[in-house]
Amino acid sequence: MKHGLKYLFLGVSLVCLYFFLVKMTETYHDPDLMPYYHEWQRDLTTYGLDPNSADNIIIISFSDHMAMAEAGVSNRNHNTIYVNSDMADAGKYTVRAVLYHELGHYAFDLEHGSCTIMSDTVRDEDEYRLNWDQYVAEYMETIKKNNRQ
Ligand SMILES: [Zn+2]
Repeated sequence: MKHGLKYLFLGVSLVCLYFFLVKMTETYHDPDLMPYYHEWQRDLTTYGLDPNSADNIIIISFSDHMAMAEAGVSNRNHNTIYVNSDMADAGKYTVRAVLYHELGHYAFDLEHGSCTIMSDTVRDEDEYRLNWDQYVAEYMETIKKNNRQ
């Protein structure tokens, strides 16, 4: 019995080590996206929401291999968010909007059409830039409303 426990402990340790190593090798936080991710975290804090709501994310990256019509994609089973590289050509606010949109799905289950940022079509860079604070406020209110339900 004592030996059994020892092997069980060893087995559990090895399994933990395995998942730790897999997670370490898979982790990729794109340096070009992280400033916007950190901005999202600061915005959450400003609105009294948990800035660590997506901290189990493993890969957050631009992707060159996405369908033209797809601006971004998030997957909670794989802990990934990808932003279509083409968005970078549109501009910084478009990248922000797509990232906030995917994080909205990922961390808060936001649905399409629940606010401007969660719209299923990407808007103009200028529109995002000129209305950004208002769009963020609307997005945060949508999250709070969802959380109350
Ligand atoms: Zn979406």
